[in-house]
Amino acid sequence: DKLFSGFSKTRDNLAVIDELLLYWNLADTDRVLDELEEALLVSDFGPKITFKIVDSLKEDILSGKLKSGSEIKDALKKFVLDLLTSKAPKTELQLGFRKPAVIMIVGVNGGGKTTSLGKLANRLKKEGAKILLAAGDTFRAAASDQLEVWAERTGCEIITAEKANAKASSVISQAVKKGKDEGYDIVLCDTSGRLHTNYSLMEDLIACKKAVSKVVAGAPNEILLVLDGTTGLNMLPQAREFNEVVGITGLVLTKLDGSARGGCVVSVVDELGIPVKFVGVGEGVEDLQPFDAETFVNAIFS
Ligand code: GDP
Repeated sequence: DKLFSGFSKTRDNLAVIDELLLYWNLADTDRVLDELEEALLVSDFGPKITFKIVDSLKEDILSGKLKSGSEIKDALKKFVLDLLTSKAPKTELQLGFRKPAVIMIVGVNGGGKTTSLGKLANRLKKEGAKILLAAGDTFRAAASDQLEVWAERTGCEIITAEKANAKASSVISQAVKKGKDEGYDIVLCDTSGRLHTNYSLMEDLIACKKAVSKVVAGAPNEILLVLDGTTGLNMLPQAREFNEVVGITGLVLTKLDGSARGGCVVSVVDELGIPVKFVGVGEGVEDLQPFDAETFVNAIFS
């Protein structure tokens, strides 16, 4: 499928170890592990997680627990799978019981925020929820128009800014109030793409979060960070920054249908303990899948 083909480059990078493992014997261990280390680094796993994996495999090889190349390969896959499922097990949306539930979508410009929000609206609506969209990206002029297209496409109501230069927090606040008064199940809020150097935008994001909780106690229920799956190791500082400022509850990893460099997401999950909740595999309305760690691991390692 699209996810599998998107990771063809990562799989190619990692395939070099398959051949080595095929002919592996104990005397070969250091050379094979060096190659494995290299392959993981090239695939954007990042140094910290790479060394953890290699150390763990080495220990199990030397203790005699892993006795063949195929056992080593299976242990490698299991290590990554266990890490993803133990560090961040809750991959489903946690929407609580108060209505409306509020989901904020954050991330840097161009990562796929608005598109992911549209696809998510489609998904949740199909599950039977009454959805309201909030065009909270008041910074980028075209973002609101783009979200209106998604509103039409998915048949969801939308709240947009009434005047130019409106504050994102006031648009979002207005939407959540409407959501509460009119019995909506979920309000999905778009936000501006912030660069972590831009202080006022970060302040703005905090204001949006406060505006939501003022209307519905305990909300926002989810703050999803959209990460561009083609950006490799840049994901990690971005995720740290957003998490420090607003507290991220889940990740949406986009563009996994292209030349995905998703190895890095393992580092993000490992360091921040935040689950990947959805993956984007295209620009169409159906191209958002719930994250499944096993499918992901099989797409990376074949
Ligand atoms: P935003 O600035 O974060 O709101 O990003 P947009 O939602 O405008 O997306 C930026 C570009 O990436 C658009 O051209 C989208 O169609 C594209 N895009 C978003 N998600 C995906 C995806 O999962 N796969 C592909 N191939 N393109 C995507």
